[in-house]
Amino acid sequence: MSSKPFGYVYDERMLGHECKYDSTMAECPKRMKLIYERIKDDKLIEKALKIEAREADDSEIRLNHPQELIDEIVSLNSTEKCEEYCKDKEILWTCENTNEAARVAIGGSIELVKAAVENKIHNGFAIVRPPGHHSYGKVPQGYCIFNNVAIAAKYAIEKLGVKKVAIVDFDYHAGNGTFQSVKDEPRIHFTSFHGHHYGAFWPFSREYDYATNNPNTLFVPLNGTMNSEGDFISVFHHVVLPMLRQFEPELILISAGFDSGYYDIMMEFGQGVKAHGYGHMARLCNEICPGKTIAILEGGYHPYNYTESASMMVRGLLNHPLPKLTIPARISGSLLETMWNIVNHHSKWYPKLGDRLKLMENQQKNLGLTPFVFNQTIFLGAKMRKMYDDVKKNRIVRTREWFPEMPPEQVAICKQKIDDYKKEYVFDSKHPDPSEDQLISQCVWDEAARSDAFIQAIPFATFLIQEFNDFVAGKRENMMICDRELYTEAVEKGVLSPHEPITTTFEK
Ligand SMILES: [Zn+2]
Repeated sequence: MSSKPFGYVYDERMLGHECKYDSTMAECPKRMKLIYERIKDDKLIEKALKIEAREADDSEIRLNHPQELIDEIVSLNSTEKCEEYCKDKEILWTCENTNEAARVAIGGSIELVKAAVENKIHNGFAIVRPPGHHSYGKVPQGYCIFNNVAIAAKYAIEKLGVKKVAIVDFDYHAGNGTFQSVKDEPRIHFTSFHGHHYGAFWPFSREYDYATNNPNTLFVPLNGTMNSEGDFISVFHHVVLPMLRQFEPELILISAGFDSGYYDIMMEFGQGVKAHGYGHMARLCNEICPGKTIAILEGGYHPYNYTESASMMVRGLLNHPLPKLTIPARISGSLLETMWNIVNHHSKWYPKLGDRLKLMENQQKNLGLTPFVFNQTIFLGAKMRKMYDDVKKNRIVRTREWFPEMPPEQVAICKQKIDDYKKEYVFDSKHPDPSEDQLISQCVWDEAARSDAFIQAIPFATFLIQEFNDFVAGKRENMMICDRELYTEAVEKGVLSPHEPITTTFEK
């Protein structure tokens, strides 16, 4: 155990960031308040050091964003201007306090990183909002104003003399802003686990599939629903940890979003990471950078999930006992398909992965199975991307009510599901790594795995396509940023060409 305290940041100025024109926003002030209260009630921060947040100044924000964006955010001094500003943005709301809250989120993240680098704390958690991982350049989006984690990473390198930083993003949504911010920075390694669903999920881009052109980026696109904590941890052992061991970061920043949590608001269409999975991911990051692992809050929307998950993550960072984790005999079908592609794709840069790949291929041969066929990529999102781009270009973005609020019956189901797994928890302080043989045997690619991959991916991908097709056919009111009334009006005026439905033809 370290003699240094755990560090955390919590500052109520960030609660001032609250949407004044729509009370249904999933990213809302209570998220950070409930997380803070939960870890306090669990007595996880009794001996911790509270690091004081402060407003970041322009020069710090400019580490990652142009002055133009900074000035725009400063100028939002009325509710009307705030909503108007978001009419050409993707899933963004702002308010008059956004500038202050966003600066405190950055300043808090920076100060926490500084405390870790200066050996004042042993790991830490910045409970901040607005989140940051979707924002880059002059593009604030996806509830994110400035990219907290990218700025903190660049600050560590530029101002604190840290040689290499790794960012591990396990939020359900693609860390697209972080990727755009750090892709050309070889001193930063970036890992992102994210819903991809063959491109039919936001941000509808091929760029976030596994085949990155950047040796410093690992994408783990999730094409199937309900991958478990055991699946995520398996991917850590197969690829994340070997890559980070080769990269040798001096600091790890976790983009800590909990929306891949089991029964977060997407329920069975989301992911299935139970709370202790977040504890184990944090524990494994700390094994790479002991004492220098800093979590920065991103998403997570069902309070019962995100409070439980955040508490477990902090336990992992504190090296407290965690519930035992089961490493599955096989990785779930759709994630296994992705894993084979990842290991193959990255083996040119990471020799350890090349060694693994040979063992996986030999196993196929020894079992009399056909080899895995690489790079059979499917992309379904081109038409969705085009519609979003057109809607933005015409400044007719729907700025309110993107997600319906969960009815009480559903909230009760989620709570029950989470309570059920908590009953199974057996706490332990020893969590041996899986053996090399165990890891290889998780990767058998046979008929069962193939069909599992298909079944796991199809219902949600079909749902997403149906939703889009219904919208373009006029059979559905609204679809996220696409507003029925504004869309129809623009088509009638001839400023917008109607969009085509997605047919069974895949676009390469
Ligand atoms: Zn998210």
